[in-house]
Amino acid sequence: MSSAPPPRVRLAPSPTGTLHIGTARTAVFNWLFARHANGRFLIRIEDTDRERSRPEYTENILSGLRWLGLDWDEEPLLQSERRAEHVAAIQTLLDRGHAYRCYASEAELDAMREAQRQSGQAPRYDNRHRDLSPSQEQAFIAEGRQPVIRFRIDDDVVVRWHDMVRGAMEWRGADLGGDMVLARRAPADSVGDPLYNLVVVVDDAFMAITHVIRGEDHIANTAKQLLLYEALGLPVPRFAHTPLILNREGRKLSKRDGVTSLSDFREMGYTSAALANYMTLLGWSPPEDLGERFSLDQAAAAFDLERVNKAGARFDWDKLRWLNAQVLHDLPVEALQESLTPLWSGCGWTGEPDWCRDLCALLGPSLTLLEDGVDQARPFFERPELDEGARAQLEVPGARPVLTLLLEALDADPWDGQDPARAQELIASAASGAEVKKGVVMKTLRAVLLGSLQGPDLLTTWGLLARVGEDIPRLQRGL
Ligand code: GLU
Repeated sequence: MSSAPPPRVRLAPSPTGTLHIGTARTAVFNWLFARHANGRFLIRIEDTDRERSRPEYTENILSGLRWLGLDWDEEPLLQSERRAEHVAAIQTLLDRGHAYRCYASEAELDAMREAQRQSGQAPRYDNRHRDLSPSQEQAFIAEGRQPVIRFRIDDDVVVRWHDMVRGAMEWRGADLGGDMVLARRAPADSVGDPLYNLVVVVDDAFMAITHVIRGEDHIANTAKQLLLYEALGLPVPRFAHTPLILNREGRKLSKRDGVTSLSDFREMGYTSAALANYMTLLGWSPPEDLGERFSLDQAAAAFDLERVNKAGARFDWDKLRWLNAQVLHDLPVEALQESLTPLWSGCGWTGEPDWCRDLCALLGPSLTLLEDGVDQARPFFERPELDEGARAQLEVPGARPVLTLLLEALDADPWDGQDPARAQELIASAASGAEVKKGVVMKTLRAVLLGSLQGPDLLTTWGLLARVGEDIPRLQRGL
């Protein structure tokens, strides 16, 4: 049996912005595919747009991938360092007659497109400079015109490939917008900055990429790139186009939906485990035995492109929140503490590590977002105002006598907050002393300790506050 060599896949982000959720999802699928097949997951930073690329975006993208738990196998390749190879490939295409210089000015191209629009045609380059004579070229050069370099795309060529997600694909040359630009304007005796489709092909071949897995917005590019592979005589990878991420209304998720960057989700308090899990579900149907809740490693073991859907993947906030809550509830308390402590420090809140750990254990089961662990911890670090419900509770018959009895008991025999049985006793004797039900004592305690009638387990809350000497002043405040 012949076994195929392990696959090599890549993520090719442009560092012109922070890590986009769509790019992160593409990264997840590439990573899962590579890990499933013991292949390699590589990164190429497509930083050839000199004006818009920034090193801090590269840093943001790489740290976002790391945060998600996606590791890569070789040093990321910087596309900008490969200009000489890109230029050489363009030269090859010029030499072989696949490419030519086009001197049409921007104004001429605008007029051409306008005329097409008016006659109801789709705008496209009309290949007007495809077969210039040497003297025509000389005349344009003498005028001081700088050409772009274009690649010939015959209208009647048909590009076909078998897409690993979408099946048989077919694209006609006539639908590719006319001869494509390979390099920006530059003096006619040089080659200007090489553009996306050319550099991607040259670099994917250089990196020996076997499978190109990317968003379906690149389908037309794939058709163009296949023509370039053929013209350059390079080995052709397989292609898989993943569905777009859609918003609630079924349109492409965009800036208008409020969140597009991975860091936005991170700041909102989503965990990397929940996001990685959720992004895997965005377009991939896991086999039944895996369920919907899994780690990246578990998903990698089961991953295949056949289970990637063709239809757009609607972003489902409820599911993401549900997953996040599951992750937070299952987190070992030490891990939760590690995540929450820096957020607490950011608010100026500090405490003994043991005390913080016990607070995390108390809050963990009720968190949906990590940020909830800030809101819910607040009354433990800052003495809260009493809300309306808490104030009303103090007016309930017996409430204030309860507080007086509790304070007397604590004064006679202080409680260090450790043994909950002691708290039970205090509550029981205050109830009988004030001749009220235990429920009244509990509610009154909650009102003064947390400033609200809602909150986590009362005895643990009281214990935590008692350990830092904060229960007595709060009880006194209720009188
Ligand atoms: N730089 C391109 C992008 O971010 C890469 C597309 C590709 O994977 O070829 O969209």
